[in-house]
Order: sequence, then structure tokens, then C-alpha cells
Amino acid sequence: MFDPNKKLINKIKERGGFINSHAHFDRAFTVTEDNMEEVVHYHLFDKWAFIDKFKRQATTQDYLRNIVSAIRMQIKYGVSGAQTFIDVDTVCGLKALEAAQEAKRLYKDNFKLKICSQALKGVIDPKQNALLRDALELDYLDAIAGLPRADRGREQDHLDEILSLGKVYNKRVHVHVDQLNDNLEKETELLARRTMHWGMEGKVTAVHGISIACHPKEYRREIYKMSRDAGLSFISCPTAWIDSRREETLTPTHNAVTPAEEMIAHGLVVAIGSDNIHDVYKSYSTGEMALELKFLLEALHMYDIETLVDIATKNGRLVIGMEEFNGGGE
Ligand SMILES: [Zn+2]
Repeated sequence: MFDPNKKLINKIKERGGFINSHAHFDRAFTVTEDNMEEVVHYHLFDKWAFIDKFKRQATTQDYLRNIVSAIRMQIKYGVSGAQTFIDVDTVCGLKALEAAQEAKRLYKDNFKLKICSQALKGVIDPKQNALLRDALELDYLDAIAGLPRADRGREQDHLDEILSLGKVYNKRVHVHVDQLNDNLEKETELLARRTMHWGMEGKVTAVHGISIACHPKEYRREIYKMSRDAGLSFISCPTAWIDSRREETLTPTHNAVTPAEEMIAHGLVVAIGSDNIHDVYKSYSTGEMALELKFLLEALHMYDIETLVDIATKNGRLVIGMEEFNGGGE
């Protein structure tokens, strides 16, 4: 009996295994029976307060336990490498990042771990900015992350700061953009424009890009062309935003997933990630990449096995810097 899933998984194994291009291992497994009861129902702002409390109290050993548990589980799921975001801000300081260095060293022979800063408190406030620069000076980072919403009202300054740091320190830059499945978001466009402004073509990856699918076809085409000019690549985390809430706003009909099949048709590189694993944001998420890939292929009607294998393997190695990235797709 022919099972396409088996064929797909075998091919991924042959090509070196899954790459999980986007995750938050430092917060993995922070959901517990107690906090699951209460915190999952909190308003988002109260969740942030809860997470801050965890981050303030967590020791480097706590963080190490989370990251190591995530790596072990990833290996079990056939993942050979990953890039994890690690919180770097005035709440947790460099504790989580120090734990990540240790985890990277411990697992260097079995698992390729890439470490990217996560700036939940923005990068413009002088104290947050100084910490990010410390992390770069200590050579703790493989890549720099951005979250434009964290510096609301100063999104362009936020991007300019991380892109210029990427240029100075010769690092790849990964940015959470267009996450909300909302046609008012145009963050990918801004990211592509600022990438070209800073001459960072081929070194920048957009994570999510869900809201692109809310815009009309003409605009989407423009975004893909601009992204191609900027050498932007993309990471889709299919289960991460599939829980996007029903809204009354009218937009083109689509599933709440990165429009990966259109991006690929326009010559863009798309990889895949798990995003959160067993934390208070996504308590049921396991980090199983085969499941993420299945969601992507079903949500977008992508049945070409070679394309799916590339998304799961080679494209991941390109966007997390395991292999040299030359800008566009093939
Ligand atoms: Zn994320």
C-alpha cells in the first residue's frame, strides 16, 4: 500500500533530517498542570506579566533544562538542526543566553543549534539595546532577531537598528512580521525596503508573514517581487497561527498560514519551524516537524514531494545559516 507520508519522511531522512528553523526552546515545557488551568485563559497582557515573572525567577539551570529537553525531543522527532530564539532583555538578562551556549556545546556532536536573540522589550530602549550589544560582543549570537511590534510606533527605527547591527557584526537577521492575519499589517513590505536600504540582501528572513495572505493578489505579487529583490527568505510555522481568531473583516479567502506555495512560485525560499513548544502560549504544541509539515501541505494544497522535502531540509539549512545563502530560490 502506497503511503505518501512514509515516502516524504524517508526522503527527509535521506536529505539529512528536518530543520526546525524557528523555535523558542528557552520557554519550552513551561506549561504545568497548575498554570495550564489558569494562564492559558489569561488576556495576552496578563500572559506577558506571567512570563516576566517566570523569566525573573528562572535560573540558568532552569533555562538549560528547558533547552536540553527541547533538543532531546527534537532529535526524537528526526530533527538534525534548529535555530532557537532566546530571550535577551532586562527581565532575564543574559541568563537564558548563557544556558543556550551550554546546550549548544553539550549537543554539538548530535544536533546543530543556532542561537538568535529575542527582543521582547524592543531594541531601542538604551538598556535593552546595551544588552543586545553585550550579547553580540560576547559572541553569543548566530543571528539577531526583530519584533517590530515591541517598539510600537517606531517600527522602522527597530528594523534599522537590528539590520545595521547585522551589517556591523555580519549576522543573519530573523524578524517576526505580519503575524496577526490582519489586512492592516504591511510589515513584510517595510522589512524588504529596509533590508535593501541597509544592503542586507540575502541575509534576512521573515518569520510568519501570515497577513500577506489577507491582501489582494496585486499587492501580494508586489510583495513577492520586492522580497525577491531584497533576497528575503521566509519561515512558516503552520500550527502557530492556525488558531488565529475569526474576524468580521472581509479579506481574500485563505487559511491562516504563510502563503508558501505562492512564495515558492515566485522564486522565494521558504523553510519551516515549530515556534512555541509546550508553553503557556501554545500548551499543546509538541514541536513535531512532521506534523507542522502536514499542516502546511494540507492548508496550502502542496502535494509536490520534492518541494516539501526542500522546505523541511535544505531551505532550513539556508535560512539558519548552515549553508551559504545566495538570495533567491532555484
Ligand atoms: Zn516565534
